[in-house]
Amino acid sequence: MVDKNNTLSVVIPMYNEEVNIRPLFDRLFPVLDGLGMPYEVVCINDGSKDRTLEILEDELGRRPGLVVINLARNFGQHAAVMAGFSQSKGDWIITMDADLQNPPEEIPNIVEQFRKGHDLIGTIRKGRKDTFFRKFASRVTNRIVAKISGIELHDFGCMLRGYSRQVVEGILENPEYRTFIPALATFFAKSPVEITVGHEERAAGESKYSLIKLFSLQLDLMTGFSMWPLRILFAVGTFMAISSLAGAALIIMLRLYYGPGWAAQGVFTLFAVLFFVIGCQFFALGLLGEYIGRIFQAVRKRPTFILGWVRGQGKQ
Ligand code: UDP
Ligand code: MG
Repeated sequence: MVDKNNTLSVVIPMYNEEVNIRPLFDRLFPVLDGLGMPYEVVCINDGSKDRTLEILEDELGRRPGLVVINLARNFGQHAAVMAGFSQSKGDWIITMDADLQNPPEEIPNIVEQFRKGHDLIGTIRKGRKDTFFRKFASRVTNRIVAKISGIELHDFGCMLRGYSRQVVEGILENPEYRTFIPALATFFAKSPVEITVGHEERAAGESKYSLIKLFSLQLDLMTGFSMWPLRILFAVGTFMAISSLAGAALIIMLRLYYGPGWAAQGVFTLFAVLFFVIGCQFFALGLLGEYIGRIFQAVRKRPTFILGWVRGQGKQ
């Protein structure tokens, strides 16, 4: 089927992916040519320290339809995708990872959903090939995030997703300094749908997410989309205040009943209570700090990314 009315942009963030670019392109471009519609492949070099940029520049001359964005330095996966969105021109935009964990052969299935009129196409990874720990962590997070944010998505982590131009514009108009695109997109979608896609092991190279980076992404996801942590904090605080009041009343009563001799033995219990309360306060402060930090970042209006240069153009 030839479809000249719609155009497609494929947005791929790349950080130290020198070994994956060519194998990816060898599979991706034939799939896109087979779609029979104008397309562009927007690759964002997210401050790579290896030969990623060199290879991309080399491919520019060889692959019609390739657009390369060079960011000034490393801004992280989601900021890189934002940069890709900002330069993309397609009516339909598909994001994917560079490491071939998302098979390019799934793209026609996403395009089919666009043709049916859906404006946000989520994906659920079938037979996910990640370590047990990664899978377990994702399952717990997906569950918690779905509950807290009220966003019904089954698999937040999979970046092979489709967005209509309208959804992308919505995302671009809300450039939070730190964001999680799949969750943000659900706010702007009118007709979202989820499909199942295959998942493979990372073709080569290492995962760019350390445990700390992963944790900070989950925190972004949680604090970025709900006030629940703050409310839980308030509830816990109220409960503790009431129960400690009750405890104090009990101690006073026992003291009156048993006399002063009894009270001395209570010193250690008091210490235990004290430490517990101090612990809770630190927890609360940390959480508040997280939100205040976000306010600070929002107030400063720092850009999510800084463009180095953009080269290349789409293929008709
Ligand atoms: N990535 C990026 N900037 C970063 C980290 C990752 O552009 O700071 C890209 C990376 O090149 C890949 C995608 O984001 O295309 C997903 O990264 P990775 O495969 O390491 O994540 P995982 O699959 O382990 O979740
Ligand atoms: Mg990966």
